[in-house]
This record gives sequence, structure tokens and C-alpha cells, in this order.
Amino acid sequence: MNSFLHGRVSVVVGDITRQATDALVNAANSSLLGGGGVDGAIHRAGGAEILEACRVIRNTRYPEGLLTGEAVITTGGRLAARHVIHTVGPIWGQHAGREAELLAACYRNSLALAVEHAVASIAFPAISTGVYGYPAEEAAQVSSQAIREFLTREEDGAANAEARPKLEEVRLVFFTPPSAEIFLRNHKFE
Ligand code: ADP
Repeated sequence: MNSFLHGRVSVVVGDITRQATDALVNAANSSLLGGGGVDGAIHRAGGAEILEACRVIRNTRYPEGLLTGEAVITTGGRLAARHVIHTVGPIWGQHAGREAELLAACYRNSLALAVEHAVASIAFPAISTGVYGYPAEEAAQVSSQAIREFLTREEDGAANAEARPKLEEVRLVFFTPPSAEIFLRNHKFE
């Protein structure tokens, strides 16, 4: 079974840019001005509108670049997704032991932005596990724990809050079957 937390989380193999969720998460870098991997693919598929929106955010709110663990939201441009949430993952070995904390912050801050923007479905790539070198086994533990904590807390809060549109689906997209299998062997959803 590739579905967790009462069906709110799913694990799939595919290309992040092809997901027809309300929002996609981009494994960006602090420049917000594009890069390789997921970042390159999202900007190629989504077109110039996304880069332009990133440029505006960079110039107005983050002249020095977006900090690791933080997230911002833009249009999805030509993508099927309405929004792209750009977050900067930690570079393995570059954060003096704070890598896990920073990777968890990427997931938590991206999910918080999604909820703020009434996103019902969101697709994540495996942040930091490419060029940034985060070991996939450990990333699986950290990301699943961060997602579980966020969704559990959100559910507890929802009992009191007045009707807020619910984040119904968190889709974790792996580029290859082996990377999905590593995730499925190491997650902490239950
Ligand atoms: P980072 O710089 O945060 O490590 P990368 O983009 O280099 O980000 O890679 C993150 C993960 O996403 C890697 O596991 C990589 O294999 C995977 N990946 C690369 N391209 C895609 C894509 N188009 N869709 C889904 N996953 C992808």
C-alpha cells in the first residue's frame, strides 16, 4: 500500500511537473532564479511567468536570497498546478548537524503556505536528495515525520477553527521506482 495517514498521503513514481495537484513544491536554491534537477524541470515546463514572479520576490522580500528551510509561493504559470511553492533544502554536510531540522522546516513551511492559500492537493519531490546530497533513507524519515506532525496538528486544530478548506492530498513524487522503494522502507508514517 502506498497510501498513509487515512489516505491523505500517497507515494507515486513520476515527474513532478506532470502532477495535476493544486500546488507543486520546487526544490529550489536560495537564488530563486532557477537551477538543475526539479528546479530546472519546473521552470522549463511552467514558463517565464514563474521565473518573473521569483525575481519579484527576490528583489522585494529576499535581496540576499531565500534562507534554507523557508518557502515562498508563486503562480504555476503554464503548469497544470495553480501554484508553485519554492523551498530551499539543506545541503548535506553544510549545516553543522542541523540538516534534519532544516529539511523538516522545508516540508512544514511548504505545507503551511499551502493551507494559507487554500490548496487542497500538493505534490512534493524528494527535497535535497539530488544535487544537495541528503541520504534518501534519512530524508524519508525526516520528511514523513514532518508531514505526519503537520497533518496531525492541523486535524487537532480544525476541530476548533471555523470551516477552513482542507488539505486533502499530499502526494510524494519519486523520479524512479528504486527511490520510491527506499522511501517506503524508511518512512515514519506509522
Ligand atoms: P536538491 O537540489 O534539493 O537535491 P534535485 O532537484 O537535485 O534537488 O533533486 C531532488 C530529487 O528529485 C532527487 O531525488 C531527484 O532524483 C528527483 N527529481 C529530479 N527531477 C525530477 C522530476 N522531474 N520529478 C520528480 N523528481 C525529480
